[in-house]
Amino acid sequence: MCIDTPPDQMNSNVDYSPPRTMGFTRVLIANRGEIALRIIRSLRTLGIEAAIIYGREDRSSLPVRMSDLAIPVYRDDPLLSYLDVEAVVSAAKEIDADAVHPGYGFLAENPLLARRLKEEGITFIGPSADVLELLGDKIQARSAMVAAGLPVAGGSDHPIHDAAEASLIAEDIGYPVIIKAAAGGGGIGMQVVNSRDEFDSAFRLCSSRARSAFGDDRIFVEKYIQNAQHIEFQVLGDGKDAVHFGERFCSIQRRHQKILEEGPWLNSKDRSEMGRKVVEGAKSVGYSGLATFEFLRDSDGEFYFLEVNPRVQVEHTVTEVLTGFDLVSLGIRVAAGESLPLTQEDIVLRGHAIQARINAERPGDFTPAPGRLWECILPSGPGLRVDSHACSGYTMPRDFDSLLAKIIAHGRDRGEAISRLDAALRETVLDGVETLIPLHRKILKEPDFINRDITISYLDDHNFG
Ligand code: ADP
Repeated sequence: MCIDTPPDQMNSNVDYSPPRTMGFTRVLIANRGEIALRIIRSLRTLGIEAAIIYGREDRSSLPVRMSDLAIPVYRDDPLLSYLDVEAVVSAAKEIDADAVHPGYGFLAENPLLARRLKEEGITFIGPSADVLELLGDKIQARSAMVAAGLPVAGGSDHPIHDAAEASLIAEDIGYPVIIKAAAGGGGIGMQVVNSRDEFDSAFRLCSSRARSAFGDDRIFVEKYIQNAQHIEFQVLGDGKDAVHFGERFCSIQRRHQKILEEGPWLNSKDRSEMGRKVVEGAKSVGYSGLATFEFLRDSDGEFYFLEVNPRVQVEHTVTEVLTGFDLVSLGIRVAAGESLPLTQEDIVLRGHAIQARINAERPGDFTPAPGRLWECILPSGPGLRVDSHACSGYTMPRDFDSLLAKIIAHGRDRGEAISRLDAALRETVLDGVETLIPLHRKILKEPDFINRDITISYLDDHNFG
């Protein structure tokens, strides 16, 4: 894999056209918002009908209007419209869908949905229920990846319920440590502990948050990697073989959640070395579909495996513009039974890409700020991509994620990508809600950001007011 290959040489021997005998006629999307729209676009490209479930609050949303078929799943709690496994299964049966695309969040990592669909002869677009179960448990996932040769941070290799046992492990690894939920996600409940006297209360907090958020209070302790960078690899597997699409750098995070992602970040030696390892990791569990292997890298350049996200990721867009591949379509084709339609050599990264997540949030304290969009003007121009379900007149429901748009700039180098992104952010109008745009514009001008001097504590270390 190399960088800066001229566009006319890019992936030239890869057949982009959908296969003649695409296995699916109709796919049901069990999601909402920008990712639902993104999946509709890939389904259309592949000549597959796009159906969608929706809650009351989303009945006039863009993805519902754009879909070929929409099935209401109204619930008093708006979140439950998208979390009801049996409602998805019966909607898929009712419309005779061949497959269900779960997107990200909601039921995307739910082994029960994968299993129930299989029982009904409907394809789940993602890995098997067994693989979801394995990777959904961070402790088991760590052990599986150690066995496949991936580097992990020191930590407990089994779930711990007892604060005294956990604190012995922490002493053994050495402070600082991080306490995490085995079933964790979204940064929920994680506690960084700097010394023994803080340990017991942090353990109790993590365990009670894990119980209420995931219904599972199994905890593990891991070495806290100081001054770390978050680097992740995009992978596609077909159950037997796998390829990687290089890395994304995602260290600009608030509450352990990303707000700005970019790539590429590594030199080609590190990329090939880690790329080989993640491919081995995916093959070792018979992975099928899109996956992201997440790592931390310390200041000595050492990598530590964090987790595998077994689904399409918000920031897949960065990799799509760098490689020219439609990853969502590839995930659907693999689920339909195709073998990998590309080889590692076909994947070339070109230039640099940066994505700003435009969340409807107050930039000062990141509290959600949903509302009605009186006016919505989204940017365009050379090297620009916008993925969004926003439009003038759209009322953002309060109950869901605050992600309103993703603006992705592509340039021949990082400097050009930064300039293009800043110009695009200046042009964007989202009247009626507060957004992270002012914060993103400050970051793009900040010297440490420009010099690539960024760790996961970047936002805490800089005062953006
Ligand atoms: P989740 O699944 O809840 O998102 P992850 O394990 O993927 O949790 O970690 C999310 C973020 O939390 C990382 O990007 C990083 O900022 C921080 N983090 C997690 N584990 C560690 C660690 N061992 N050392 C330092 N930071 C960590």
